[in-house]
Amino acid sequence: MKITGVKVILTAPGRNFLFVKILTDEPGIYGVGEGTLNGSEPIVARAIEHLSNLIIGRDPAQIEDIWNTLYYSGYWRGGPIFAAALAGIDFALWDIKGKVAGLPVYQLLGGRSRDGAWVYGHAHGPEPKAVEESARKFIEKGYRFVRCQLEGGYGGYGGLGFVRNEPSGIAGHRGTDYFNYEPYLVSTPKMFEHMRLALGNDINLLHDVHEQLTPNEAAQLAKSLEPYRLFFLEDALRPEQTNFYPMLRQASTTPLAIGEIITSRWECLPLFQNHWIDFIRTAPIHVGGITEIRRICVLADSYFVRTAFHGAADLGPIGQAAALHVDLSIPNFGVQEWVDFPPQLYDVISGMGYFKDGMAYPQETPGLGTDINEEEAKKYPYQQAYMPTHRRGDGTIHLY
Ligand code: MG
Repeated sequence: MKITGVKVILTAPGRNFLFVKILTDEPGIYGVGEGTLNGSEPIVARAIEHLSNLIIGRDPAQIEDIWNTLYYSGYWRGGPIFAAALAGIDFALWDIKGKVAGLPVYQLLGGRSRDGAWVYGHAHGPEPKAVEESARKFIEKGYRFVRCQLEGGYGGYGGLGFVRNEPSGIAGHRGTDYFNYEPYLVSTPKMFEHMRLALGNDINLLHDVHEQLTPNEAAQLAKSLEPYRLFFLEDALRPEQTNFYPMLRQASTTPLAIGEIITSRWECLPLFQNHWIDFIRTAPIHVGGITEIRRICVLADSYFVRTAFHGAADLGPIGQAAALHVDLSIPNFGVQEWVDFPPQLYDVISGMGYFKDGMAYPQETPGLGTDINEEEAKKYPYQQAYMPTHRRGDGTIHLY
């Protein structure tokens, strides 16, 4: 079998997505992939088009060799754009391999290790009672894991520490959120005290700091959350702040999760080897696909680190399906982040993973299970988009 073409499909059914279709000379056999990267999709699209010249004419079964050929092809390598482009191609190749074998991809990864993947939802509200009510909606649907955020900045990150869109001087910038650490550090433990008293101990509670704090503030927060026994505290530090992980570890036993913006196994390795984290949050779509995430999972397992793949709305249904195939098969699965997609997306993509009683599952059909309707995708033109900017109260760009 030979690869005869690589198509990139940019579409915005409710939000932006980048899908990939790899065509072969075998009638009816093609693979679908995804390289969505929140706002950077046009650059990822160009990278895939560039790489596609290296794989047209090759046997799509040779995934490992193709991955390494593409990874090292430019000499300068790595980074989020390249990792998402590589994932788009890698997913499509695994999809083809599954279709040829007549098996869902998780069967090719060693088979089922569990019934389904536990997932966590995003509860949020302007005050603790509202967060509780939001969490109860998830619990009623069967969720056993709920991420809790007081609303403030986008997605509830920074909670009451954020004031939104206050126009003034340099900081009167489109989409600006203003961050003040003090209200955040005080209100967050109070919210979790409320959640534990209201919801009891059977529900797993999570929280995402989203890199808003200095290392010292992060240590204060992790320590103050200890009595509420979080399942994990996410992105308390930035991946670049490795020098401060020992301090955070010594300050608190709150389990730590990091890694949604990490793009390779080599960035993960020191986090594992030094026992700085409990959960790794890299998602297949942002590290170069199933081929690279398998390596990361094996490394993590060697250091007793479990997975908690990033699964927010900024990655799409094929990336999510690929994550579920890995979730189902690896021994060191922890939890999977889970969001609902815009309803229009269901016209464009079929065979998505699905939620039932607190767990998520991929389809049992050969390959990843997902397919794309290109005519429907054309109805939703891609919209140029940027992430919001965060600033301190005096207008300074918020770097840490
Ligand atoms: Mg996060």
